[in-house]
This record gives sequence, structure tokens and C-alpha cells, in this order.
Amino acid sequence: MVNRVAVLSYHSSPLVEPGSGDAGGMTVYVRQLAEALERRGVHTDIFTRAVSDRPRVLTISDGVRVVSIDAGPRVSVEKEILGSYVDEFAAGVRAFATMQRGVYDVVHSHYWQSGLAGIGIASAWGVPLVHSQHTLAHVKNSYLAPGDVPESQARLNGEATVIEGADVLIASTDEEWRQLSCMYGASHDRLKTIHPGVDHRIFKAGDRSVAREQLGLDADDAVMLYVGRIQPLKGLELAVRAAEQLVSALERRLVFLVVGGASGQGGERELNRINGLVESMGLGPNVRFFGAQPHVALPTFYRAADVLVVCSHNESFGLAALEAHACGTPVVGTPVGGLSYIVRDGESGWLVDSRDPAGFAGRLKTVLSDWDLWRGFSQNALVSAANFSWDGAAAAYHELYECLLREPFPHACTC
Ligand code: UDP
Repeated sequence: MVNRVAVLSYHSSPLVEPGSGDAGGMTVYVRQLAEALERRGVHTDIFTRAVSDRPRVLTISDGVRVVSIDAGPRVSVEKEILGSYVDEFAAGVRAFATMQRGVYDVVHSHYWQSGLAGIGIASAWGVPLVHSQHTLAHVKNSYLAPGDVPESQARLNGEATVIEGADVLIASTDEEWRQLSCMYGASHDRLKTIHPGVDHRIFKAGDRSVAREQLGLDADDAVMLYVGRIQPLKGLELAVRAAEQLVSALERRLVFLVVGGASGQGGERELNRINGLVESMGLGPNVRFFGAQPHVALPTFYRAADVLVVCSHNESFGLAALEAHACGTPVVGTPVGGLSYIVRDGESGWLVDSRDPAGFAGRLKTVLSDWDLWRGFSQNALVSAANFSWDGAAAAYHELYECLLREPFPHACTC
């Protein structure tokens, strides 16, 4: 029986609010999955690199602890030099387990640098290593946004090592499953698709007029929303250009809410560029930048909005789209990552397979102008979101962990 899992989240702590810097969908994933596993009686210790003088062990609930391991300086450092401290981190995790007499049944690593640490840790403990990618360098490089920096050779090499060394690789979508197989040559018996979830306790339909009042919006504004970190990959320029066309095409005032802060190499530059674009187009009165917002504050934004816009060049899944649907908000987005599972094209939103602002603006206009269509989309959005939950994801992981303990190694089980 699986009692305790060591979760490795080397570069991003689940204690940091998502929405800027290194904290995004993966941060939400790690914490929500741990809490859902706890509900199934599986305890987790989430190991992360120490970046402050915060206590070494923080208990966030009965079955979930966050353990900060000293590896390199106790400050945030660029992702690019983080690789230098992976061995120190792995040694720190093992030392902590020895000191605490902690026994773990499975190691589950998130993102490639955690995976590198996980290979040695899992082998030293004689337990299986399950690895979730979150993003893949080859994929990011093949969908590079204009002006974006390609992922490094060090990352490409590191990912190859992890993909070779993990017992099971988790894909968030069948598309990621294929990418792992075709771009990285991962053997099929080690691949498993598990969709992420959404916390339906907080992301649920609610009173739209109350939400609008809280955000200082008028009842008859046409409200378009973006939620996510700001970096070239997210393609925010397309949404701004579509907004420019909508301002004159709509009979109502358009308000575009942008929630999230700069992230990664080039994030600040991208944010400044988008700000400049908004100003140069005279969209200042229509666009409101909120910066990163606490995760629990987001349902208010989704409920206040008529539509969430997702313009990413690539996504590994796209939690923001799922959260919007769970609040009954239609989505207009690019058909990337999990969006084709979440958004029912023409029923709960639109997937637009071109980066032409006119195409986007056209689809947005239909959602923002036709109340009956909007109501139908909103109902269908709720139905679609009901198919995803963290409890469902945790059940799939739990079954996998149990199965791995039953199967003799090195043959991984993909039940
Ligand atoms: N998010 C947040 N506050 C913000 C912006 C984003 O809590 O200001 C959360 C958002 O709710 C979602 C996650 O960050 O859960 C972003 O995940 P997504 O999969 O959309 O994008 P990723 O960060 O993985 O690229």
C-alpha cells in the first residue's frame, strides 16, 4: 500500500502564489494534487529548494508538508543557473529522509530539474520514479514566439536523461503523450496520460453582478479576461489586437482585464511591450492590468468576465481555461494543450486555429453580442468542466503508484 510520496518541486515552491515569476500552473498542480492525495489517505512531503529563511518544514495540512532544502543561496536565482544546485538538493532530500527516518513508497518529480534529482533519489531508496514534465523544451522551441529565447541545450540534455531514467512519464494530454514518444523516443510502456483538475469548491458559478461590483465594472460592460503569467509564449499581443477591433465593433463598452505578472526570461520586456502597444493603440481606457492575483481571488474575475481569452503559442494543459469553464465562463482560445479537451468548439467557446486578430475578434464578437448564445456556452462550459477534478487526477495517480509497487522493476506499469 502506498502511504507516503516524496514530491520533488525543485524550482518552484507550492507556497508561492502563482501568476508571476516561476509560479504558474505547475505550482497549482503540485499543491492541489497533494491535497487530493491526502483525501485518499496518501501523505506527501513536497521538497523544494529553500529561497528564504522560512522554517525548514511547514505543515500545510495533516497529510501535506513542504520541506525546504538548502541548495545554493537562499534566494531566487535565474532558472538557467539553477541546474548547478540539483546534486546538492538531491543530497539534502536524502539527508532529510535519513534524519527523519522517513520512508517513501514513490518519488514523484515535477519539471526536468526535479527529475534529474529524482533519478538518484529513487534509485538510492529502491522506489519507483514517476515524472511529470509540465513543459517540454523541444515543444517550446518548435512553437517559439517572435523574439522569444530558445530553451538551452543543457535543458534538452537534462530532459533526455529524465525521460530515459524515470519509470513512468505522465502526460497531461494525448498530444503530450505523442510528443514524448515522437520527439523524445520515450517507450510506450512508460507513458501514461492523466488530465489535471480544477478545484470545484472555489471555481464555481457565482453571482456575476456581485463580482462586477467588486471589480468596479458596469453591469453592461463587455468584459474580456486574460489570466496567466506574461511572457512571449502566452501571445498576449493577439488578444490586444483583437480588443482594438472589438472596441469599435461592439455596441457596449469593452473592458479587457489582464491578470498576471511578468515571468521568466523576457517577461518584463514582454509586459512593457504589451503596455506600450496598449498605449499606442489608444486602448488605455479599455485595458486594466491587475498584476498577479492570489489564486483564491480568481473566481471573482472569471465570474465578472463574459469571456476568457487564451492566445498561447503553446500550453502543456491550460488550467486557466478550465477554471473559467468551471465558473461558467466561455473561452475563446488557440487550440493548444488541453484546450481541445476543455473547450467544446462552437458549444462552450471557440478554438481559433489562426493568429489573425480579425478571426479572433470575430469569434469574440459573437460571444459578446449574442446573449442566448452566451447562456448556452456558459451552461456547456459548466458541463465540460465537471469532467475534470483533482480528486479524479489523484485517483489515477494513486492507482498508478499502487500498481508500480506491485510490479517488479524495472518494468513500469501503465495501468
Ligand atoms: N494564476 C493565479 N494568479 C494569477 C495568474 C494565474 O493564481 O495572477 C493561476 C491560474 O489560476 C492557473 C495558473 O496560475 O491556475 C496558470 O496555469 P496555466 O495552466 O493556465 O498556465 P501555466 O502557468 O501553466 O503556463
